[in-house]
Amino acid sequence: MTKSRHRTNPEAEWFGFEHITAGNKAERVRGVFDKVAARYDVMNDLMSLGVHRLWKDRFAAMIAPRAGESILDLAGGTGDIARRLHRRSHGQSKITICDYNAAMLEQGRNRMLDDGLLPDAFTWTTGDAADLPFPAASFDKICISFGLRNVALIDTALKEVVRVLKPGGRFFCLEFSPGVAAPLKDIYDRYSFSVLPWLGEKVANDRAAYQYLAESIRQFPDQQALAARMEQAGLARVRWLDVSFGIAAIHSGWKF
Ligand code: SAM
Repeated sequence: MTKSRHRTNPEAEWFGFEHITAGNKAERVRGVFDKVAARYDVMNDLMSLGVHRLWKDRFAAMIAPRAGESILDLAGGTGDIARRLHRRSHGQSKITICDYNAAMLEQGRNRMLDDGLLPDAFTWTTGDAADLPFPAASFDKICISFGLRNVALIDTALKEVVRVLKPGGRFFCLEFSPGVAAPLKDIYDRYSFSVLPWLGEKVANDRAAYQYLAESIRQFPDQQALAARMEQAGLARVRWLDVSFGIAAIHSGWKF
């Protein structure tokens, strides 16, 4: 894979399509999730017609959690990935959910209780992906699902991932990709910029948050560019797998 040079953390200057200079992206994104936390899970099902569940199942299968492994679900939100990893490892892996938004974590804990799961089977930590509250070499595996696009300082966060991974550890990222294959592009764009904000307004009472979602996807690096940035952060053997015609992709890389 070719390594292309790029400016560090260019996404910090963009909130969706809005150019921001004040360095306040992290706060603005936090505000988005404060507002939608209560409706976040139901919106995911509605927006994707449940398909996000299939992507997340596949993601968890690729992570393949094993007994005794310590795994970080970064930007873990309401714990959708953590609960899958817990189930797959029959409760035998040690899973930490870290997110900088306390409202999302609170929703996750409540939803687990509603579903008869024990939130205390997980470690819940408030922390910023760009300044992780963990010592070096803490985790066997780190995953981030639909989180990296929202992180203001993506390159800094990738370096933090490498720091807190154990040598021989592996990183996994599930994220929307900015472009989809030609036959789907028109309909996908119309859906993103018309239906999503409309649904956001009707269901989560927040049109702007879902307009931001559509825009932030277009501002995220494509699969090749993200792979190059993972390599520049220090990950090796980086690869990716497109899902649903490249609407999303699963990247992975190793720390050696
Ligand atoms: N991983 C969950 C999932 O797949 O459903 C939640 C994804 S949600 C779209 C994005 C999450 O990223 C939010 O919970 C948000 O608070 C979190 N986030 C954004 N920037 C962050 C940062 N700098 N550090 C930690 N979490 C962050």
